Amino acid sequence: MSEVLVVIDHADGEVKKPTYELLTLARRLGEPSAVFFGSPDQGDAVAEKVKKYGAAKVYVVDDAQIKGFLVAPKAEALQQLAEKSSPAAILLPSTFENKEVAGRLAIKLGSGLITDAVDVAAGPDGGAVTTQSVFAGNYTVQAKVTTGTPIITVKPNSAAPEEAEGAGAVEAVAVTVSDAAKGAQIVATQPRQSTGRPELTEAAIVVSGGRGTGGNFEPVEGFADSLGAAVGASRAAVDSGWMPHAFQVGQTGKTVSPQLYVANGISGAIQHRAGMQTSKTIVAVNKDPEAPIFELVDFGVVGDLHTVLPAATEKITER
Ligand code: FAD
Repeated sequence: MSEVLVVIDHADGEVKKPTYELLTLARRLGEPSAVFFGSPDQGDAVAEKVKKYGAAKVYVVDDAQIKGFLVAPKAEALQQLAEKSSPAAILLPSTFENKEVAGRLAIKLGSGLITDAVDVAAGPDGGAVTTQSVFAGNYTVQAKVTTGTPIITVKPNSAAPEEAEGAGAVEAVAVTVSDAAKGAQIVATQPRQSTGRPELTEAAIVVSGGRGTGGNFEPVEGFADSLGAAVGASRAAVDSGWMPHAFQVGQTGKTVSPQLYVANGISGAIQHRAGMQTSKTIVAVNKDPEAPIFELVDFGVVGDLHTVLPAATEKITER
């Protein structure tokens, strides 16, 4: 069976959910091998986790030469691994960093690249066919790479992780990183102050607020917390200085694809839709029954968010 490389998304060995989603999708194309960039000491523990989702092999790449630098060393390391293992496809979680790694890798391998897929399946010839939302969400397209090894970044929440036991055989991989790739070094990192909420792009539920909040995000945040959700915002809310740009959903903000997206006091401009319309279920609260967001929703509530959200929060908290 063809090997499919899946790059593990993790924070200091703590494997993140998008990895399991990618392993689930990779099994449609062949036999997944997971690639762990991290400390070799953590390799066995990581392998124990990813083998539950079908990883036959776990390539452990010591990130000592990689982690202090920007993306170029990771792309070089993946190139060496791909040249050694000749995979049928390479899947990476769609993060800002991974998309840059994937772009560099595609050039190095002379391969085609598809970013921000929301689904991956095997086509009639067994090759990867992706589904993507393009042109600010106006079209959904099926695409395939026709040159080289398909390199595909997949948005978080694109698939429900399904368990399947794999062998999880650990293999240490030695890579050589060129001096040129080490041209840009990270001198300091500043962890973002934790909100205690899930990361916006990975959350299963996102509750967003727009201009309709009038700058009072308390009902939005309260409702989000009752559901264990991440908080998002429209650009109008960000431009008004009510929320930081890191919370912005849309064309010039983050792209989210949660199981549930709740838009509150957001009109549904095309640039906002571009960042959220691949969400599985969309709910909107808006006091204007003619608001364009209602064209998109699965469920709509016509009402004032300052009344609707506290009432909904109370009901959920009671349960
Ligand atoms: P509005 O359009 O003003 O809508 C507010 C809504 O709140 C209205 O529908 C109103 O009926 C409702 N409302 C008011 N009060 C209440 C209440 N009490 N209870 C319930 N509902 C209420 N926008 C983004 O969001 N993300 C982007 O990334 C983005 N990128 C852009 C890039 C470009 C190049 C451009 C030109 C624009 C971009 N925009 C983006 C801006 C976008 O066009 C809209 O201006 C923006 O999304 C509007 O935000 P909004 O829906 O919060 O505000």
